[in-house]
Amino acid sequence: MADNPFWFVYTKCQKKNTPCASYVQALETFDFEEEHDKLRRKTRCTTRMKFQTFCKVINPSLTKHTMYCNHDVLEQKRIATTRLRLSSHNLAIERGRWLQKPREERLCSTCHVIQHEQHALKDCTLNTEARRSSQNPDFTSNFFAAEMPDVITATCYTLIKHFI
Ligand SMILES: [Zn+2]
Repeated sequence: MADNPFWFVYTKCQKKNTPCASYVQALETFDFEEEHDKLRRKTRCTTRMKFQTFCKVINPSLTKHTMYCNHDVLEQKRIATTRLRLSSHNLAIERGRWLQKPREERLCSTCHVIQHEQHALKDCTLNTEARRSSQNPDFTSNFFAAEMPDVITATCYTLIKHFI
């Protein structure tokens, strides 16, 4: 071990009790399930609207989506879907939040209704043609369910690519 550069640095850090050494020691006892449960509880208890929407609408079970393990899912489509699921996009509902506009003023420029994720996926006239050509036009069921991740991500990408 003495000729291992990492071990050499780690031993020096341990002797000095540096934050890096503490971090590495914490990793040795890290319990993924326990930390995951803590994060789930914290996410469910927060009063922030984005987290509440995520817990109630997007991912009620707070589980890892199958798109992250499926190699048939193209990266740009997975990223678009992730951004939609996490409200990290440029729809008016989010832009308005950044500008601290009241919710009722965060409107779609074409439809003149609140432009939230559901509107962009289900109703927006900007996406009418994309919805017609979609492989999965059924947005009434649980759109983000784990089945068919390649179809879901492709549809999601097609519908919101201009808002990410
Ligand atoms: Zn619209």
